[in-house]
Amino acid sequence: MNCPICRRPNRPNAHFCAHCRAPLLLQNKYRVTGLIKTNDAVSIWLAEQTNLWNSRCIIFRFINPLESQAHAAIGVRVHLTHRALPKAIDLFEEGGYTNLITELVEGEALDARLRRVHTPVPEADILLWMEELCDALLYLETQPTL
Ligand SMILES: [Zn+2]
Repeated sequence: MNCPICRRPNRPNAHFCAHCRAPLLLQNKYRVTGLIKTNDAVSIWLAEQTNLWNSRCIIFRFINPLESQAHAAIGVRVHLTHRALPKAIDLFEEGGYTNLITELVEGEALDARLRRVHTPVPEADILLWMEELCDALLYLETQPTL
């Protein structure tokens, strides 16, 4: 298996890259295939679930230890089910980090689309997105709080 970061070879089922220490396999079932983005707070990885026919998912690895309230909020997130929200499918600690696994939502990010097309978004598209966003916010507003 080649590391998705440094592209150097590693032994099969290695948990970390032997060269750059990037995570390669979490919980013996989430195989990292690429880095989406990273900042001071979180690294976001594209991955495959080896126990579910290599279905793709997203790993949010929180860089710093989470405050207990933030950790509890992520726990609440696991129970949310709405068509506009990616389904959280796992939450665990590994290597000193909190890792949240969510389903992958296929599609193009709005900022990527705007950079690609260089034209204003049609009003009908914006109204549809706002309706979906308001529906998701209403769903979140009606969920039990911490
Ligand atoms: Zn590497």
